[in-house]
Formats: sequence, structure tokens, C-alpha cells
Amino acid sequence: MTLTLKNGSKTYPDGTVALIPTDLHVQPGEIISLLGPSGCGKTTLLRLVAGLERPDKGAEIWFGEDNVTDYPVEKRKIGMVFQSYALFPNMSVRRNIAYGLKMQKLPQAEIDRRVDEVLSLCRLEPYADRAITALSGGQRQRVALARAFAPRPRILLLDEPLSALDAALRDQLRDELAGLLRSFKITAIFVTHDQDEAMAIADRVVVMSHGRIMQIGTPEELYRNPKSRFVAEFVGHAMELSGKADGRRFVTEGGTLELSEDGTDKSVFVRAEDVRIDPQGSLTAKVEGVTFLGTHYRLTLSGLGRERLYGQHFGQSAPSVGDDVKISINPSALMLLPKEANAE
Ligand code: ATP
Repeated sequence: MTLTLKNGSKTYPDGTVALIPTDLHVQPGEIISLLGPSGCGKTTLLRLVAGLERPDKGAEIWFGEDNVTDYPVEKRKIGMVFQSYALFPNMSVRRNIAYGLKMQKLPQAEIDRRVDEVLSLCRLEPYADRAITALSGGQRQRVALARAFAPRPRILLLDEPLSALDAALRDQLRDELAGLLRSFKITAIFVTHDQDEAMAIADRVVVMSHGRIMQIGTPEELYRNPKSRFVAEFVGHAMELSGKADGRRFVTEGGTLELSEDGTDKSVFVRAEDVRIDPQGSLTAKVEGVTFLGTHYRLTLSGLGRERLYGQHFGQSAPSVGDDVKISINPSALMLLPKEANAE
């Protein structure tokens, strides 16, 4: 089912503008993530779609050909998964999943059939008769998903579904959640402030800041081709180089870099992974810090026109603090952004 938001905005009664007029179009079966820092309006956008919040005048929300703008939440036929999961703790897994189906007054045989189907899909059969209190965090998360999916919602909405879990489990469940959502073949929107989570799960990521959509794209598009300073910094921690572009050359304190295109009047950004020690490099920097991170060393470098520039070094040993090193940056790794985008 497609989801279309036209001119969707939200001003709370106290005057807070949580969302400026926004358009969003989600394809059937697409998994979309709303990503942004705390307070950027992502939960508000999700709640507008859910019908838990009324948009300002002039907004329209369509599920396929159905204009649901004035529908209350129960008429929208959506599935929801919250941070807390909101499961009934003392009921069994099976009864939790069946709950919404009972509310729909489906015949018992149909309820049993659907519960068995989602139990199998979510690999929960061995736990069907256990109480929620006897499940691990990851299993609870799967029950919450199964319960939301069982009534065959038109759209699935998830609000920070992994944030209640500890870091190790979160990493593991990220891929599992991505796999399950795809196997459901359902249009899904999920809110997160964690860029790894957004990139790992979503087909397209909507990056938001201050009630505004900054950019929508596949994880690769956003990472490789950010359109603004905000997106470059928020997705993958790009660092701005200070210096001056002169055609296809960029002159910084530590030397001159080649650009892949004319950089006049542009800001130049780079990510740590593209800043490498290279004896043939055109830049000279001083090593201010070395941190061993297992797969690589993170270098803190000075002398490149900004106070600190991070680089990565792969190898058996690292340079020492205080060393002067040669650095190269591949021209294709430099991101050129319009200067006016920096106003944000
Ligand atoms: P978080 O990640 O912290 O949940 P968010 O991106 O989901 O943040 P929202 O909850 O959508 O952000 O809030 C957006 C803005 O609207 C914030 O400035 C918030 O303080 C404000 N806001 C949210 N709910 C209300 C409300 N009921 N009344 C007034 N202001 C609100």
C-alpha cells in the first residue's frame, strides 16, 4: 500500500512547530526510516500517519486511494510497535498475538490460523505458550512485531523498536528486524535516532532536522552524496576541511588536494575512513593522538587547516604521537557542498 503525505505540518497547542509542511511518498512494501536528532519531529510525523495526532489544516494523508486524513486511529488499520512493546506481561505469547484478532471478532479458527502463521514467520513457535515475563528482550521484540502484523495492517509503524535493548543485542536484532520486515512485504515506517540502524534496515532514509526533511535517499545515496552540511555530518560524521578551492585544487594549511570537479565557492568535506597515511601523499600533518580500535587505528591529526581531523590507519603498527606524516585523500572521496547549505 502506498502512503502519501501532502503538505503535512504540525503545530502543537503551545505554538511549537514540530513539523513544517512536508511531502512524503512511500512505495508499497517499502521500508522507510525517519532519522534525526532528538526533537527533530520524527515521532510527530509518525503519529500523524498513525492518526494519534491531528495535522494542521491543509494536510492530506492517503493510504493508497483512501484519504485517511480525518480517520481516527482505529479506522486507519495500521500496526504499531512501540519502544516499550506494550505487551501484556502475564499473558502467553499466543494470547498476546491473538488479542488484536479477537478485537476484530474474527472466527476462532481464523485467529488460530493467523497466530500460527506469524508465530512461524517470527520463529516464535517454541515460546507460544510462555508468558511474556519469561522471554528475553529479543524474543519480546519479535512478539511485539508478530502482534502488530497479525491483524494484517495496511502499514506498519515502529517507534524506536530497538532502543529498549542493550547495545550488543541491538546490533544482532537489527539485521533480524530488517529480514522480518522484508518477509512481511508490508509498507513500514520506523523512527530512529541511530544512523546505523536506519541504514541497516531501511530501503530509503528520511533525514530530518528541526521539523524539516533535509534529504530522502537510499543509505548509499545519503552516505556518498549528501546535499547539505547537516546530512554530511549526521550520516557518517563527515568533517569540513578548511582552506580555499581554486578550480580543481583545494589549498589547505598542510598542502594542496586535487578535487574531482571545480570547487570554487564550495565547502569540502571528508570522512575519517578516507584520510589515510601515504608516503606519496600531498598533505603533511602532525599526529596528535592514536587510538587502537581493533580493526584499525584512529588517528587524530593537526596541521590540516582545522583543529582536529580524524583519519584511519590499517596495519600492524601505527605512527607515534608527535610524528609528521604524509596524508592522501582520494579526490572521489571529497564531498563538495554548496556554501549556502552551511547556514543550517
Ligand atoms: P525524540 O527522538 O526525542 O523522540 P523526535 O524527533 O521524535 O524526538 P518529536 O517528539 O516529534 O521529536 O517532537 C518535535 C518537537 O515537538 C519537539 O520540539 C517537541 O518538544 C515538540 N513536541 C512534541 N510533542 C509535543 C506536545 N504534545 N506539545 C508541545 N510540543 C510538543
